[in-house]
Amino acid sequence: MPRVDSEVLRSFASEVTEAFGAPPAIASAVATSLVSADLRGHGSHGVIRLATTYREMIDGEQLSPAATPRVVSENDRNGESNGDDGGNYRSSDGEPTVLVDGGRGFGQVAGRFATDVLTGRAAAHGIGAVGILDASHLGRVGEFAERVADAGYLFTAWVNTGGTASLVAPVGRSDRRLATNPLAFGVPSFGVLPFPIVLDMATSQVAHGKITKRAIEGESLPPDWAIDDEGDSITDAEVFEAGTGAMAPLGGRVAGHKGFGLAVVAELFAGICADGRVAGERAPETVNNSALFVAIDPDRFGSAERNRERIEALVSFLDGANERPNLVPESARGDRQLLPGEAEHRTAMERREQGIPIDERTAGALTDVAAAYGVDVPQDLES
Ligand code: NAD
Repeated sequence: MPRVDSEVLRSFASEVTEAFGAPPAIASAVATSLVSADLRGHGSHGVIRLATTYREMIDGEQLSPAATPRVVSENDRNGESNGDDGGNYRSSDGEPTVLVDGGRGFGQVAGRFATDVLTGRAAAHGIGAVGILDASHLGRVGEFAERVADAGYLFTAWVNTGGTASLVAPVGRSDRRLATNPLAFGVPSFGVLPFPIVLDMATSQVAHGKITKRAIEGESLPPDWAIDDEGDSITDAEVFEAGTGAMAPLGGRVAGHKGFGLAVVAELFAGICADGRVAGERAPETVNNSALFVAIDPDRFGSAERNRERIEALVSFLDGANERPNLVPESARGDRQLLPGEAEHRTAMERREQGIPIDERTAGALTDVAAAYGVDVPQDLES
């Protein structure tokens, strides 16, 4: 599969986003987020989105490419705008709880803005909680966990789509009722590891983007990702994408009640703390994420030295467990992996050196969107 240099891809993605109508600073932030997902092995949340959902949302006027996020005061939903380009706002003034309005702009920009506000409040109060309302698609939520953990704070995110992306069946049922409602957690590794510990996951068996990607690439689905009206597996990704069946909750037939439970809690945490909607409150249309982001300052509870000891002890204890090749999941790609976030870290190291693999159909889709918006396609992407 041809590989594209990450900086070449980032610059191309930025040009396409600008051609959609985003100012340069927003285009650059969106491109950086998308390519960071590609670098970390989450192509489903990478530049392909420019040729699929984001293009559709922009063409359908459901995403405002120039919108900047703003802090809405706790008591006044029409509060003053505090945003500039959506990426540089950081304040330690004010309350630990903040509501951010994404203005239906790019979710990546709202997410970056929210994490900047969040770390400011956590620095001032020991804890910060930011609700994000009306962001478009936030993309790879782990990016925000990495940003906050890299700044030295513990992080958690709970996300819903305000009822706009009905895809997942409740446990024991076969109709689409919930979104894939991702959760993310970030823990700084206090210098012990070269990456923060980041658990970033959909509450369905996989993120929906992975099914879309397989449909684009003409690949089939594993039997436990999606079910039809009778509860039987759907293995044809295009059939699912055409509207048949539902995604299975995380845990599938064996433990789907756990994924379902997490999705319900995410639905409510995000809906309540973003003062947004939950599934069932309006007819599904396009993705419109609401979220709760929380940051906690670990220094308020104990010393960095003790936290280093904790990470070292845990990692070495886990690493000492017997390794059984027949138990290593496919996601480990034949490598030894142990901690949440490690796969992404290793993949990013390799792809920064070797480039990002882009399959033929993805390259074709990107070429199409570039042609439609008058953007030159880099040579490496031309099929
Ligand atoms: P995934 O199954 O690929 O990974 C889930 C977690 O497991 C990650 O933290 C990863 O580091 C860890 N992991 C993976 N392989 C591992 C291994 N071998 N050993 C140990 N840990 C391992 O993720 P997913 O559930 O398919 O979600 C993919 C992406 O989709 C996420 O970035 C998520 O934020 C995003 N998403 C976004 C939305 C949205 O509305 N914005 C919705 C759903 C998902």
